[in-house]
This record gives sequence, C-alpha cells and structure tokens, in this order.
Amino acid sequence: MSIDIRRLNERLASAKPSATYHIIDRVAERRAQGANIISLCAGEPDFDTPAHVRHAAIQAIEDGHTRYTQVAGVRTLREAIADKFRRENGLDITWQDTLVCNGGKQVIYNALAATLNEGDEVIVPAPYWVSYPEMVELCGGETRIVTCNASTGFKLTPAALAAAITPRTRWLILNSPSNPTGAVYSGSELSALAEVLLDNPHVLILADDIYEHLIFDDQAFVTLAEVEPRLMPRTLTMNGVSKAYAMTGWRIGFATGPRWLLQAMEKLQGQQTSGASSISQQAALAALTGPKDFIYQSRVVFQRRRDLMVSLLDQIPGLSCEKPGGAFYAFACCAGLIGRTTAAGRKLRTDEDVALALLEEANVAVVHGSAFGLGPYIRIAYALDDASLREACEAIGGFCQNLRS
Ligand code: PLP
Repeated sequence: MSIDIRRLNERLASAKPSATYHIIDRVAERRAQGANIISLCAGEPDFDTPAHVRHAAIQAIEDGHTRYTQVAGVRTLREAIADKFRRENGLDITWQDTLVCNGGKQVIYNALAATLNEGDEVIVPAPYWVSYPEMVELCGGETRIVTCNASTGFKLTPAALAAAITPRTRWLILNSPSNPTGAVYSGSELSALAEVLLDNPHVLILADDIYEHLIFDDQAFVTLAEVEPRLMPRTLTMNGVSKAYAMTGWRIGFATGPRWLLQAMEKLQGQQTSGASSISQQAALAALTGPKDFIYQSRVVFQRRRDLMVSLLDQIPGLSCEKPGGAFYAFACCAGLIGRTTAAGRKLRTDEDVALALLEEANVAVVHGSAFGLGPYIRIAYALDDASLREACEAIGGFCQNLRS
C-alpha cells in the first residue's frame, strides 16, 4: 500500500493562495531581473509608523514587556480599544467586550472558525477582499457571493441581501470603506440593510471597519452596530491599527461583539497563536491613546492622491473609474481594453491578461478585479508618492495607446 506523505488537509488543498501575494511575488521576480516596476498592488500605507508609536515599542522592550500576555490582550490595551469603540463608534461597551488578535485577519478567521459548521453559508458581497471566501471555505463554510456592480456603487442593496439569505445563512460580511472598490456605506444605506437583518435573527454580521479612518470628502464614518444597536448582540465589529496608523507589520487587530463569540474566539486563539506580540500591544496602546494628527494627515494625503489618480485614469482611453469614497484603492473598469492586442502581441481576453500585460510591458503592477470577484476591472492601490503615481499612469496610458484592435 502506498501512502502519499504529502497529502494535505483537503480544505487547504483546494484553497487558492492570495491573488495579491501572487502578483507581489511576480513583482519581486521582475525586480530581481532588474526591471524597474512601480507597484500599485500593495494593500498598505507607504508611510512610516508614527514616531511616538515606534518609541513606545522600544520603551516596551526596555520596560520588560517581552513575555506572554493574556490571550485576549493586555487590559490597558483592551481598555483603550473599548474607549475607541465608545468614543468613535458610539458603541456602549467595556473592556471585557473586546478581543485583541494578531492582525485584523486573525479576528475574521477566528470568528469564522469558531462558528461555522458544515453547510453554513456566509454572504460575501462582491467585489470582496480576496481573503473572505478563502477563509470561509477553510473553515468549512460555503461562500454565497452576491455581485454588487457599478450601478449600486459596488454596494449591497437590501433587496439583494434579502434574496441571498437562506435558513443556512450564518454570517454576512460587510466591509466599508471597501477593499477593493473604496465604496463607503452611508448611515441610511446601513439602516436599510439593518431592516432586512432584523427580520433574520439567525444571521451574524461581521463589520470589517479596518479602513474606517481613510474616508474622504468629509463623509462621516458609521458602522452597522452604531446605526442599529438592536443588531449589537449579533454583530462583530472588527478594526485594527494596520491601515489607520501605518502599522501593517505590527499585527494588531481587535474587535468587539457578543461575549459568547469573543470567548469562543479567545479559546481558539489560545490553542493557536496565544496573545498578540507583547511589544506590538504596547505600540497599539500608544497609537490608540496618542495624538491623532497622523490619521488626519494621512487622510488628507490619500484624498489628494485619490483625486490625482481619478483625474489621470480618466484621461486614459479604455479605462474608466468612479471616484472612491475611502480606503486607498481605485477600481477601474478595463472593459475598453478587452479583446485588443498589446504592442508585444498579447491578446487581452480577461482583466487578468490586462494586469499581467501591464506588469510585463508597462512595468506597472496592479491586481485584476476578477481576483476580487468582479471583472473586467483592475485594482490600483495609490499608496505611493505623487511622482510615482504620475509615472505609473503615464506608463499605463502609453500601454493603452499602443494597443491594436
Ligand atoms: N480587512 C480588509 C478589507 C483588508 O484589506 C485587510 C488587509 O489588507 C484586512 C482586513 C486585514 O488587516 P490586518 O493587516 O490587520 O490583518
């Protein structure tokens, strides 16, 4: 009898590696070959972590914050998180209603792994962050994708939500501002969705608010549990320091939600990673309790870049782009490029062909929209300086102009 020693967990074997990492790897390969690539695919701010946060981390090491912490996070940080949710989101909670994880990603994974059983469905509006469907499936659930196209601003409507809910629906995942579209749900849009959810008490809601502070044009950020407190007992409101404080590498995410759920997530985390890094927790504490100018400054910078990108992309034949309301992504429709042939003879059949050709022929890296569940689009992350953004758009423009029909 032969045994395949390399056999994997079946769910993992059928999971797709992250599409964004795939492109990032290809960018690294091209750079190693000497190509000068402008990467517009990374999902992180290009700023340094604020100085006071860096100093707090160094001080934490000197002060001996170098040991295991409680799985759910140190109390001082949990108090700061509760304070943040009370102050910024109007959620009436205490520190015992919080959980600290190793990045926002672990919050989501913990929640799904702690609650999904075979046959459970998770509603994921598309375009979606690439990790949602993969996480759902790794945790044994079934993803129910609801396509939300440009006609609704890439947002879920109450009618589409109502049509997607079945007796097996366990979760709805909502992400605002959105990765990849930058779409932002208003208070009235969330209220309308809440009406449907109130009629379906078996559905849990995950509000992924990781881009909360990157919101433009003086819009007010609102989260579902704030708009409809009656949904609080079944809403997990997730956030973190990664995007707001340029702390993607520090790996601190957090959440508030019903205690039964947080306790289950903590139990899982206790057997998996234990508490988040003790040093990063002190750094996150400094971020949440310190001055907020960094947040305001990065919002101003990203809004300016958003305006620059949208105006430059608008001038490129074959591309069109709605003005995103938040995050740092432009989701440009590339339907006008499909069916055409590049200067190097590549036929562009899909948006993935467009992204690959842009990388190979224009030295610009973007991610194809179909990786996020909606084509033909490309996602352009504008977390780069103005000069690089201009250079990238010039290269994309040149590439488009040289296409043959
Ligand atoms: N949610 C969304 C929509 C994201 O885009 C990301 C990161 O790209 C995360 C969650 C995860 O954030 P973190 O880096 O804190 O794990």
